[in-house]
Amino acid sequence: MFLILQKHLSQVQLENLCNILQGQNLTFEYSANSSYGHISLGSEAETLPEHFFMQVPGVEKIIRTGYRCPLAIGKASSHIEIAIAIAKSKVTLSPSTKPVIIAGPCSVESEEHIINLAQKIQEAGASLLRGGAFKPRTSPYDFQGLGITALKYLHLASIETGMPVVSEVMSAKQLEMAIDYIDVFQVGARNMYNYELLKELGKVNKPVLLKRSFSATIEEFLQSAEYLISCGNAQIILCERGIRTFETQTRNTLDLNAVALLRTVVNMPIFVDPSHGTGNSKLVQPMSQAAIACGASGLIIEVHEKPSESISDAAQAIDVNTLKDIIKKSFAIWATLNIKESIFDVNQVLTHTNSTVVV
Ligand code: PEP
Ligand code: MN
Repeated sequence: MFLILQKHLSQVQLENLCNILQGQNLTFEYSANSSYGHISLGSEAETLPEHFFMQVPGVEKIIRTGYRCPLAIGKASSHIEIAIAIAKSKVTLSPSTKPVIIAGPCSVESEEHIINLAQKIQEAGASLLRGGAFKPRTSPYDFQGLGITALKYLHLASIETGMPVVSEVMSAKQLEMAIDYIDVFQVGARNMYNYELLKELGKVNKPVLLKRSFSATIEEFLQSAEYLISCGNAQIILCERGIRTFETQTRNTLDLNAVALLRTVVNMPIFVDPSHGTGNSKLVQPMSQAAIACGASGLIIEVHEKPSESISDAAQAIDVNTLKDIIKKSFAIWATLNIKESIFDVNQVLTHTNSTVVV
């Protein structure tokens, strides 16, 4: 629940208002920007009637978000911008900086392969290297990743290039194995609902790239972010990677609505994965460009020196030249559209649609 405050409250009025809330033992966080101040209240506030808040001097209106993720929304609203500095590098992720590109193979295949590719994607303009070590495969008979060996290769590629590395972990045990090798932990689509994993990652002081499950509503996605924040880790990069719809021509339907909407409800970097979002290498470039145009802070793209020889996800892998072109055009689109400001707007948080489906 949010309280939107009247404009231009004096310090004394504000203190008075806070005292009244404290008197009810409510947890709350005050934030302000140039045009308004607002207070996000903890969930215990739901037990009090609306007229209680309306009578508090200085309150303009009450907003019930319907979203049960006060930290994901409230935390974001308390910062003008959440910037995430990635270890070892000058890369900062935020909703308002130039797009950041994460690129690399679906799976780490060999030491030589990942080191060569890392150098090439860096030359193409990518800032972070991705590569799967523990692969969540739909079939147990498909390649499951090289595990700890892949983590070591990724680490070597990182030392060689200076690029931070992103890789997925699916369990607390894998997290422990990966902690010294990985700079950004990826939570994959299949594990967005793995709350025990999220709780463990909540204790880690490294950023988490949280992918949306292919069946998750935006609210469920934010609740998974809420797990991380409530356990202590607010260094979150949200990633839209396509959802499952009735369409069968593409692997998933890349939900760019979610990107545009999330930019109005949270102040975290929002990434897009056009590789899994389409499943088709020919669609990766156009959807990358569309993602930047609708406000994505960055892209995570599967790249391979010989895409057709990729051990996993060959159909969606692009080559290094295409990556280079995507990066060049993404920067150009970003600069042309002047997407520098976060468009987070507390009033937007407020429009909860009660899951009505409008066809
Ligand atoms: C991946 O990034 O390789 C991956 C498996 O992604 P997702 O979890 O989005 O399917
Ligand atoms: Mn993949």
